[in-house]
Amino acid sequence: MSYVDEVLERVRTKNASEPEFLQAVDEVLNSLRPVIEANEEKFRKEALLERLCEPERQFKFRVPWVDDNGQVQVNTGYRVQFNSAIGPYKGGLRLHPSVNIGIIKFLGFEQIFKNSLTGLPIGGGKGGSDFDPKGKSDREVMAFCQSFMTELCKYIGADTDVPAGDIGTGAREIGYMFGQYKRIRGVYEGVLTGKGLSYGGSLARTEATGYGLLYFTDEMLKSNGKSLEGKICAVSGAGNVAIYAIQKAQQLGAKPVTCSDSTGWIYDSEGIDVDLLKEVKEVKRARLSEYAAKRPSAEYHEKKDGEHGVWTVKCDVALPCATQNELDLDDAKALVANGCFAVAEGANMPTTLEATKYLQENGILFAPGKASNAGGVATSALEMSQNSERLSWTFEEVDGKLKDIMVNIFHSADNAAKKYGCDGDYVAGANIAGFEKVVDAMLAQGVC
Ligand code: NDP
Repeated sequence: MSYVDEVLERVRTKNASEPEFLQAVDEVLNSLRPVIEANEEKFRKEALLERLCEPERQFKFRVPWVDDNGQVQVNTGYRVQFNSAIGPYKGGLRLHPSVNIGIIKFLGFEQIFKNSLTGLPIGGGKGGSDFDPKGKSDREVMAFCQSFMTELCKYIGADTDVPAGDIGTGAREIGYMFGQYKRIRGVYEGVLTGKGLSYGGSLARTEATGYGLLYFTDEMLKSNGKSLEGKICAVSGAGNVAIYAIQKAQQLGAKPVTCSDSTGWIYDSEGIDVDLLKEVKEVKRARLSEYAAKRPSAEYHEKKDGEHGVWTVKCDVALPCATQNELDLDDAKALVANGCFAVAEGANMPTTLEATKYLQENGILFAPGKASNAGGVATSALEMSQNSERLSWTFEEVDGKLKDIMVNIFHSADNAAKKYGCDGDYVAGANIAGFEKVVDAMLAQGVC
């Protein structure tokens, strides 16, 4: 049995109740076969893949807090410190009822390769809680965040582990957590990224993941003799990633016509009005039906089980920016049938393995999230640099660095794919390019 198959089998047995983690490991290890097979004996002796698939450590903790009725609530908090071969652990905190250890492990595992691809010195980690900020008062969110950080602060630090935002964790939550960290640890340091501008945040961090996605997509299209100019984009999500992806797509001449949230989706034949979308989702934290109520060109569709939402709309480029496994095989078939020629992931693992395979087999340019959405974590690392220097760079400076990083990531993935005989397969290319640097560092640091 090959080393990859041996490890896959062991990982499946050991983590049987964690389907998202298994899906991520499956995708990565299978696409690494050419590199691993070329070094099979050495890697097996070093137990390199076993070490890579086992987090360095993981924390699971109780998060008690008091709601507005005086009732004590209890959530579960997690932090997985997956791999520190190339730098301090770095990765967001997800606050969503669906959060469990398997989801945090899948995200932390992906983060190792994504962070490596940015070319910056950051290792892989992830955390979060099954707390749902939706429908909670500001005071309740603060109570939760303070309790969460009271425990988490024991394990993180500016040089050890630097969490950031993710689904459900925006500027408000980061602010409450930062305040609590400072209060307990007594240090003012860049322990979190995604901070507000008045206390160490970076300009362009809010926009970074969405903008970065479009910089990557633009470069991928150009390298394949295509362009975004005049192209119709179908976008899912209506959060941080989706909003700024839509904005940058428009700036690059494309026309995004859809977005979605957990209750429904919008088709706007005139193109999405970003200011209105921001007002509805960022300011009012309302549902997308409010967008449609104010915009005559928009149709609102309530989310229904078994329906395929935004992926049924005719488009040239699809940008899934909501959540994992939101684009399945049927969606992929609909996109191909409608003439879509590129899919670029803004979310983490939004496309199922079967859908990815189908898209690639049908000649669709496919940008995997760990490469195309790396702009967020890259800019977080730039925020860490600014905090260490005690300086703040201009928007243009940060945005310029972000663009260079995204263009470099595309070419690293493209070159790695070409080097290993899978030209145009950016999934394999991104995994190989990210893996090579991490492996080099792990081998240099001995058995640890
Ligand atoms: P947000 O919480 O800001 O937005 C998520 C959006 O997706 C919301 O509009 C939400 O709806 C919608 N959504 C969530 N779950 C579902 C679902 N099951 N069905 C339909 N819509 C859903 O998160 P982000 O924009 O920050 O993150 C989106 C994705 O991008 C995640 O996969 C995240 O891990 C990834 N990512 C984020 C980065 C960042 O910098 N923020 C960096 C790299 C990756 P509603 O408005 O109703 O809540």
